[in-house]
Amino acid sequence: MKETKKLLLFDIDGTLLISGGAGNRALNRALQRQYGISRAMESIIPDGKTDPAIIREIFQKNLQREPNIEEIENLCHMYLDNLRDEIQISSGYRLLPGVLPLLERAGKRSDLLMGLLTGNLERGAELKLGRSQLNRFFLFGGFGSDSEDRGEIAKMAVLRGREYAGEQIPLDRIFVIGDTVFDIQCARTVGAKALAVATGSTSFEELSFHRPDYLMEDFSDLEDFWEVISEIR
Ligand SMILES: [Mg+2]
Repeated sequence: MKETKKLLLFDIDGTLLISGGAGNRALNRALQRQYGISRAMESIIPDGKTDPAIIREIFQKNLQREPNIEEIENLCHMYLDNLRDEIQISSGYRLLPGVLPLLERAGKRSDLLMGLLTGNLERGAELKLGRSQLNRFFLFGGFGSDSEDRGEIAKMAVLRGREYAGEQIPLDRIFVIGDTVFDIQCARTVGAKALAVATGSTSFEELSFHRPDYLMEDFSDLEDFWEVISEIR
């Protein structure tokens, strides 16, 4: 009998890695150059938000208006250009504890499919993961370039994951893994399991308050993670 697969959908920033502010610097540079806005990201909490939504928020705060589609596209383009070198030179860039062994082990299992569920633009995600050669683990994803709304991104990720698997994987076999309350909420939006990890800027207590299905301090104890994933048969 064919085994039904499980989908693991990973957030990037604060979950797999810390970019050390590279993303903020890349966007700051674009906004300074194009609109003369300095240190735009200082007044924004980007965690859990999509890249286009962050640009919209910066426009409202600094220019008191909405950006049009062309402006968003243009800024995204400049941001990605800057991000390429900011990621490479970022001294604070690091993978979070246990992430690499986790991905290596999960990558060897035929019953698990790993994808991305992130507010990053698809190309931005590639750049952030690329510095540590992590792109090879992820077969599909939902990105900030798909929608500004994280719930919609989650729907895309689930759709693409099921397409990739070639089967209608049930929702209780789909895990949304992330470090913010937004990740927990978007797991709820699609009806998947929420696995929260306190390696980002949201504390364990705060995450716990929002009642994810599973909550971990970090991924340094691989057996813990394995237990969670294996709980559903
Ligand atoms: Mg995150």
